Amino acid sequence: MARPASLETLMHALARLPGIGRVTSERLAYHLMAVPEAEALELAAAIREARSRVRVCSICANLDSCDPCGICGDPERDRGLLLVVEGPREVAAFESTGYRGLYHVLQGRIAPLEGVGEEDLTIASLRDRLRKEEIREVVLATDPDLEGEATAHRLAEILQKEGLRLTRIARGIPAGATIAQVQHTILSDALEGRRDLG
Ligand SMILES: [Zn+2]
Repeated sequence: MARPASLETLMHALARLPGIGRVTSERLAYHLMAVPEAEALELAAAIREARSRVRVCSICANLDSCDPCGICGDPERDRGLLLVVEGPREVAAFESTGYRGLYHVLQGRIAPLEGVGEEDLTIASLRDRLRKEEIREVVLATDPDLEGEATAHRLAEILQKEGLRLTRIARGIPAGATIAQVQHTILSDALEGRRDLG
């Protein structure tokens, strides 16, 4: 079946989004053609607005509308406690627990099969922060799956010589679940029950 080329282009763009396969991209593309034009363009405008306003914090790599981000710039936070997470979604998840320390966003995890090595993460800037800032404890809060654990293990090796308290969040996040998905009470417990490494 022939489709207008621009509709094909839209389908391909949608299919590149995580979790969207060919069938869903087709459904979404036709849906966007069926709704009132203003409604479809609202989505386009929201993407444009978010992309132009959201910044990557130059200190912690969290996303915010300002740089440094609101958390790094907040004088009320505990600046000695640093929670290391895979992405900005995990920052949002831990914020809902009432955590009051700082963060460092790795921008991913070590995943050799996907071609992501430790040099692709923000580990160099993390080490830089540990030298410059008065951090007494680093909590490793990567996801509790295979790659998240391997990333935490490698970080523990790298950070062991820094002479600070190094901890890992407790197990207790249900198997198969990720930090960004679980309820804040579970995350609260995982943080509370963190254990010393090394
Ligand atoms: Zn920040």
